[in-house]
Amino acid sequence: MKLTILGSGTSVPHPQRATPCHWLQTSKGTVLLDAGAAASHRMAQEQLDWPNLDAIWISHFHLDHLGGLTPFLFGVKWAPQTQGRTRPLRICGPQGLRQMVEAVDDSYDYGLLEQPFKVEIMEVGPGEAFELLPGLSASAFSTPHTKESLALRLKDDDSKLFVYTSDTGFSDDLAQFAKGAALLLMECSFRRDKRVQKHLELADAMRVAHDCTPGKLVLTHLYPEWDNVDLAAEAGALWPGETIEAKDGLVLEI
Ligand SMILES: [Zn+2]
Ligand SMILES: [Zn+2]
Repeated sequence: MKLTILGSGTSVPHPQRATPCHWLQTSKGTVLLDAGAAASHRMAQEQLDWPNLDAIWISHFHLDHLGGLTPFLFGVKWAPQTQGRTRPLRICGPQGLRQMVEAVDDSYDYGLLEQPFKVEIMEVGPGEAFELLPGLSASAFSTPHTKESLALRLKDDDSKLFVYTSDTGFSDDLAQFAKGAALLLMECSFRRDKRVQKHLELADAMRVAHDCTPGKLVLTHLYPEWDNVDLAAEAGALWPGETIEAKDGLVLEI
């Protein structure tokens, strides 16, 4: 697998960090992990094959993770590059995802689900095993963030595990869910003294890392308080494994 960081930021506008969005190349196809408002532009900017994107994972309904989904559907409906496309696009996420898409669609005459190709919306619940793409096995975990928020675990053909927490508070069960990950893409919203329980600060993130010992740990969803801080060095003082600070445009082999 290969991971490209498209947006390592949050809902707060930031000059170097776009809203949450990541691109994962698997042996079964490509997956967009969350669709922040900048998703379409960032895929094009990184010269990724967005006209043939196979699946989109939406972790929860906060707009920093969802705001680019319907504009992308509007984009591929009219883009010259997608008029001849026949392969389906699967959009997968928590219960209520279809309603979210339809609410935008119904607000105007968009026809977002009438595409040159088939668009399939798949809703999954916590603890459920499913295929994000045919042959790409996945499971979801309910994170302490919003009532619908889900972490995602994917297993590719080579048996390597990839885990994406998206937004989450601290939970011992999260480390269990992430155990064995070759790469763990985890949120680390705050440096210290977090003001809310529904996100992680560095010490929380490193506790999870300590308990699940990922091959590589990538910290993302970074609020501006991380600007000008050596995140990897601070992480290294708390956990000896490899910690990488997510930056827009970073590409990692898994
Ligand atoms: Zn967020
Ligand atoms: Zn959120």
